[in-house]
Amino acid sequence: MGQILDGKGLADLLAGKLQEEVADLKEQGIKPLFCVINIGDDPSSKIYLRTKKKRAQEIGIAQRIYQLPANESQADLLALIDQLNEDSRINGIMIQLPVPEQIDVNEALEHINPEKDVDCLTPSNVGRLWRGDHFVEPATAHGILALLKHYKINLRGKNVVIIGRSSIVGKPLAALMLEQDATVSILHLKTKNLSEYTKRADILVSAAGQANLVTSEMIKPGTVVVDVGINQVNGHTVGDVDFKTVAPKASYITPVPGGIGPLTVESLMEQVVKLTRRNHGR
Ligand code: NAD
Repeated sequence: MGQILDGKGLADLLAGKLQEEVADLKEQGIKPLFCVINIGDDPSSKIYLRTKKKRAQEIGIAQRIYQLPANESQADLLALIDQLNEDSRINGIMIQLPVPEQIDVNEALEHINPEKDVDCLTPSNVGRLWRGDHFVEPATAHGILALLKHYKINLRGKNVVIIGRSSIVGKPLAALMLEQDATVSILHLKTKNLSEYTKRADILVSAAGQANLVTSEMIKPGTVVVDVGINQVNGHTVGDVDFKTVAPKASYITPVPGGIGPLTVESLMEQVVKLTRRNHGR
């Protein structure tokens, strides 16, 4: 049976450290303030907003949620971003995804001041990520790397296979893993024969959003399995990995829930603190 990679435990540990760091900053008169723009009423977004709010409160980070109507116009959204960009008290801005159809999400993201871009989604920050001189990292990718580091799982020279090529998980994770000398393959919906790649993986990350996508026949014994997926099946939250059959064959494996999810939220708070320091020249 593979060892459980306890994301929840690590997230709690790191949150404790971050809480001390925030208390220290507050003593110097620096108060991290973070804004989330949520447009419409996507049910998953509501859950994510609640989780973020709870974690921010625990750590001592002030958070404002701008709840906008589902029919919000692009012009009004850009005007709000301008206002937040100009407010020197605000250190981090993020747009909760997904957004309604009428919103041009790329234009909205481009509008965020890169110095306040906690999700690392502005074009200049994405460029810095691939160039290897970034000052902010996308939360999920950051959380995955923190978990591997905590369990002393080295990436150098390892074959890493990532299922999923989204801008928020697969692509930034590939950039950060390349920086640590892994050999990275990114698979996606049009990839033919996933097993051909996954069987060669030393570390397999699944971020596809499909329950039971990864089965035991798809991995070699001793693979490190990181399950990013969050899927609802019969009222239960499950990942992309068929945990029951894959866990006995893996060397390490993340559970869902309690794996990457809590680390993502904690890592987001770390990015807020990082940008706060930077905005104050610390
Ligand atoms: P997305 O829909 O933007 O991207 C999914 C990617 O997976 C796409 O590139 C697609 O090509 C690929 N894919 C889907 N089905 C596939 C299949 N059968 N075979 C091969 N490739 C396939 O999704 P996303 O925003 O990147 O999120 C992916 C999953 O991760 C979702 O379940 C989401 O809820 C979850 N997620 C979890 C966290 C966390 O903190 N745990 C954070 C972000 C996303």
